[in-house]
Order: sequence, then structure tokens, then C-alpha cells
Amino acid sequence: MKRGLLPKKVKLSFVLVAVVVIGLLAVRIYNSGRLHLEKQTRFMMDTYVTIYALGPKKVTSRAIDLALDRMQEIEAKFNILNPKSPLYAFNHRGEPVSDQEILDVVRLALKVSHESGGAFDITISPLVELWGFYGDSYHLPGEQEIKDCLSGVGYEYLTIVGNGRLEKSRDNIRIDLGGIAKGYSVSQAAKVLRAEGATSALIDAGGDVYALGKKGSKFWNVGIRSPRGEDLLGYVEVEDLAVMGSGDYERFFIKDGKRYHHILDPKTGCPAEGLSGITVIYPDPIIADAWATALFVMGPGKGLETVEKIPGMETIMVTTSGETLYSSGLENGLKVIPKIE
Ligand code: AMP
Ligand code: MG
Repeated sequence: MKRGLLPKKVKLSFVLVAVVVIGLLAVRIYNSGRLHLEKQTRFMMDTYVTIYALGPKKVTSRAIDLALDRMQEIEAKFNILNPKSPLYAFNHRGEPVSDQEILDVVRLALKVSHESGGAFDITISPLVELWGFYGDSYHLPGEQEIKDCLSGVGYEYLTIVGNGRLEKSRDNIRIDLGGIAKGYSVSQAAKVLRAEGATSALIDAGGDVYALGKKGSKFWNVGIRSPRGEDLLGYVEVEDLAVMGSGDYERFFIKDGKRYHHILDPKTGCPAEGLSGITVIYPDPIIADAWATALFVMGPGKGLETVEKIPGMETIMVTTSGETLYSSGLENGLKVIPKIE
């Protein structure tokens, strides 16, 4: 036999073995996590936060862990009820805030306050407390109590001075970043995921969502909840977008047939009227979160008009009378889930 020449039978078995080995390898690579959807859930910020990531398990599982850790760190720092938070020292002892991370968020909050004509106002805190929305003793305050409280509300009493120090010009000013902090937390989680090599992930913070990249070759589908009941209004297909909501169903009580909720109008000191739920879609989760609260306060007319002027922002609003309104860019973008009768 010449060198290099194998009998036909041996050749065939060699090819067969090679095919089997390659096949097994392919299955191993697949199973070892190349197309693996990793998922972890933790309870924080009063809700269940779930992060999904598609990719090699070794990368995604570490990325998700670190992203959730970061969110917990932010929760502790931004919780105004936490005596160790710089916000607590600012609110109760008048100590200026010099934490740069908090200052960055306050700067964005003040920008949204300006642009929303004061509908968004982080100095709303004394009013949230008066209505009992920090605990579970929700109640209807008296008219005079609301009036007195309003004297301690106004973002114009806040200033960022020098090289970065938040100060107040009235002693009774207290701030609450509840309308924007979740967006910040989600944006930081996305930053960690990216830094750790995740390219396809979904952060779901109790219905407030950020889609990082695509779900493989497809868009991520994000359901838009209806403010009443468990139904979804439909879903949107997104990539590198935040889908953040606000609604009158999160914290509320009903007295004499009227619903009172936790999103307060800084002009009246009472729960904002006109909408029962809103969803804002925008690339930056912080801005989306702040505007969801702001537009909720502005109501359907002025709110929708404002969104149309903000490039890249879309909204879905449900009015208190049950009507669903969409911003112009969404008319064909919302996939409505057909009702099964
Ligand atoms: P969100 O769920 O993002 O709409 O935030 C609601 C939270 O924001 C409330 O629980 C309050 O802590 C705070 N908040 C209520 N009203 C306002 C307002 N007009 N501007 C800013 N924050 C508000
Ligand atoms: Mg918000």
C-alpha cells in the first residue's frame, strides 16, 4: 500500500467519527451557554427586579450579579428613609449633599422640572409624607394642612453651588428622588452589564424595563400593562430603549368612591388628575422615568403635546375615562395583542 492511502472502509469510519465529534462539540458549545438565556431575580425597591441576558453563561451570570449588586447599592443611597443616606442628612439636618452621583441625578431632575413647568418636582416630599404614602397610613389630609405643606414645595429653593454641593434656601425643603431613582438604577445596571461584556439583556424592574441590544437576532418584546386589571394593552418591539411607566395603581386608596394616589401635582398638593397610567419610551431610562412622572402630572392634553416636542420620546397614555392615547411615532409601533374571546 502506498503511504497516505487508507482503505475505503477506514476512510469512511474516519469521516463518520469526525462528523460525530464535530456534532457533539456543537451540542456542547450550544449547551455550554453560547445561546443560553440567563435570568436572576432579586427583591428590591419594593418590587421584583429580574435581569435576563443572552450569551455565554460565564459572562452573563457574573454580569447580572454585578448589575443587581449595583442596583441594591443605589437603592440604599437614594432611599430617603435610610438614616445613612446623604438625602436623609439633607432633609432632616440641612446638611448639603456633596455626593456626585446624587448631584448628577438632581441636576437631571431639575432640568425636567424646568422643562415640565414644575410638574416634576423633587421637593414634593413633605406632601408625599402628609398623604401617608411613605408608609401604609394613606389618608386624606385637610385643606389647610395641604396649603401649609405647599409652602415647603418648590424646586426653585434648591441650588447646586460651587464645585458641586446641593443646598436649600428654606429649612423646610425636603427632597424625594422616587420619581427618577428607578430610572437611574436601571441605567446603571445597563452600564454594568455592558462593561461586563453583555450585549443582549433585558432589565425588568417591576414593569419598568430597559432593553439592551436585541434578543439575539430579534427585538425584545415589552408588554405595556393596562392600569386596570392584569391585561396588557399590547407590546412594543425595542432595542436599546427604556420603557418606563407611572400610574395611579401603584400606591392608592379609595375614599367615598374617589381614588387618591401617590403622584402629586405640586400646584394643588393633590393627586394628579386626568390619567390612570402612562408609559414612556426613550433611550435613556433616567429621562424616561422622570418624564413618565412629569407627563402623568401634566395630564393627557398638555402631556401629549409636550412629548411631540421631545425628539425620540414616545408615549402611551390611558386616561381616567379609559381612553388610550398614543404619540405620533407609535401609531404603528404598538403591536396590539388580539383579544381571545
Ligand atoms: P413614579 O412611579 O416614577 O411615577 O414615581 C412616583 C414617586 O415620585 C412617588 O412615590 C413620589 O415619591 C414621587 N413623586 C410624586 N409626585 C411627584 C412629582 N410631582 N414630581 C416628582 N416626584 C414625585
Ligand atoms: Mg418616574
